[in-house]
Amino acid sequence: MSSILKNRYQSYQEPQKVKAQNLYPFFRNIQSEQAAEVQVEGKNVLMFGSNSYLGLTTHPKVKEAAINAVKKYGSSLSGSRYMNGTSDMHVELENRIAKFLGKEACALYSTGFQVNIGVLPTVAGKGDYLFLDRYNHASIFEGAKLSAAQSVVFRHNNMTSLEQKLSKAPAEAFKFIVVDGIFSMEGNIVDLPGIVALAKKYNAAVMTDCAHAIGVIGENGAGTPNHFGLTDDVDIIGGTLSKSFASLGGFCAADEDTINYLKHTSKSMIFAASITPASIASALAALDIMETDDSHRLKLWDNTHYTLKVMKELGFDTGASETPIVPIFVRDDFKAYKLTKLLFERGVFVNPVVSPGVSPEDSLIRFSIMSTHTHEQIDKAAEILYQAAKEVDLFATA
Ligand code: PMP
Repeated sequence: MSSILKNRYQSYQEPQKVKAQNLYPFFRNIQSEQAAEVQVEGKNVLMFGSNSYLGLTTHPKVKEAAINAVKKYGSSLSGSRYMNGTSDMHVELENRIAKFLGKEACALYSTGFQVNIGVLPTVAGKGDYLFLDRYNHASIFEGAKLSAAQSVVFRHNNMTSLEQKLSKAPAEAFKFIVVDGIFSMEGNIVDLPGIVALAKKYNAAVMTDCAHAIGVIGENGAGTPNHFGLTDDVDIIGGTLSKSFASLGGFCAADEDTINYLKHTSKSMIFAASITPASIASALAALDIMETDDSHRLKLWDNTHYTLKVMKELGFDTGASETPIVPIFVRDDFKAYKLTKLLFERGVFVNPVVSPGVSPEDSLIRFSIMSTHTHEQIDKAAEILYQAAKEVDLFATA
């Protein structure tokens, strides 16, 4: 074995520095299912760091569907969708997601990340222009890097900034605006009416990544375009199966011709193994629930309004959040790590968002709300947060 790589990377000590301070919060070992209360490294903690917004990863019907799928189809299809990796369940899920979102067709990818790194370079190439919100998910920026198109980043949810950039691009060039439907750090909803108006004015196509919006906003949780009544004005709706769908995988929905093109040309679809039977079956079962039982979404919203109210009353800065993603702005990496640790020791699991993910003055800890939380659990977490925040002098600098 050569030591070339070891020599290159031994100076990378960032995680070790955090570990040396006993503050390292990543890769924690979870030993139970992802319910509102979980066991982590031998400790029972309240889970406020899961994206299972509707709480369906623990739903008996979802679990049973996964088990039955393994019994019938085995553990994996061991191949790409294009070749031997398409089951009748994949086709059923594609058809049902297309219908659910109000689009003609849908293509499943193996993750939401693969949707963005597959769609962007396939749809936009040399001579084309991509317009990206500064706070879009990392996978959108990775997709843009793989594209030969010119990427143009506009200020977060700022239509003046977007218009300035659109107006500078050549009138005849293909323009593609790609935005998150709900922003994954801030928890605010994209200004889709503003985007659609500009897209019409400048003749641009639009894609919304509804990873955090599916199951949360829109009719039966159909996401951001449906929420604004703008489904026909959005060309591509992308998303993940790993959040409300309680599974693993990704999808994009559009008109039949665009989906046909993507299915036969986008590399992350053709050259990657397909979603496993258990994951397809869980997503189908979750979709059944989303379409027929709105109690989970209603409870999620009740919990979301309650959390935002409690956190604001305690004096926390929740920024522009209006969804189950509730950031608590700390604006200091060390304090974000320290708070995460204190919370964990006292029984609350949250995720810190620190630099380089965000600039240090934007660092935060993120509470992700699920329908399965109780108000008592939210109260308890908020109280623990409040005590810990005083100990790290959060309010002094807020
Ligand atoms: N897009 C957005 C907006 C996301 O938040 C995420 C995941 N956090 C993804 C895409 C990637 O999805 P997946 O986890 O299915 O790869």
